[in-house]
Amino acid sequence: MDDGDIAAERAERWLELDLAAAAAQEKSRQAAARKLGTQGKKPGLKVECAECGCTIPTARLVAVPGAKLCGECATHEEQEQARLRRLKGHGF
Ligand SMILES: [Zn+2]
Repeated sequence: MDDGDIAAERAERWLELDLAAAAAQEKSRQAAARKLGTQGKKPGLKVECAECGCTIPTARLVAVPGAKLCGECATHEEQEQARLRRLKGHGF
């Protein structure tokens, strides 16, 4: 085996690694695209606020997946929870 053969073999090895890396990259790219695709399907389904019954804006559902309350009610709920936590903190 002379130097030329070794170089050729090395080049082949690198090419294999390159192909494997490219395949892995393509796989993760497709997975990411699939993920985005399922997220894109979300608009169209209507979710009503559990508190006031209004339709929760799609933007909110995208920002907070599984949201049960509209932004306004969620804010009230958070304030209420914070108030209760404060009360508990004071030993009530
Ligand atoms: Zn509401």
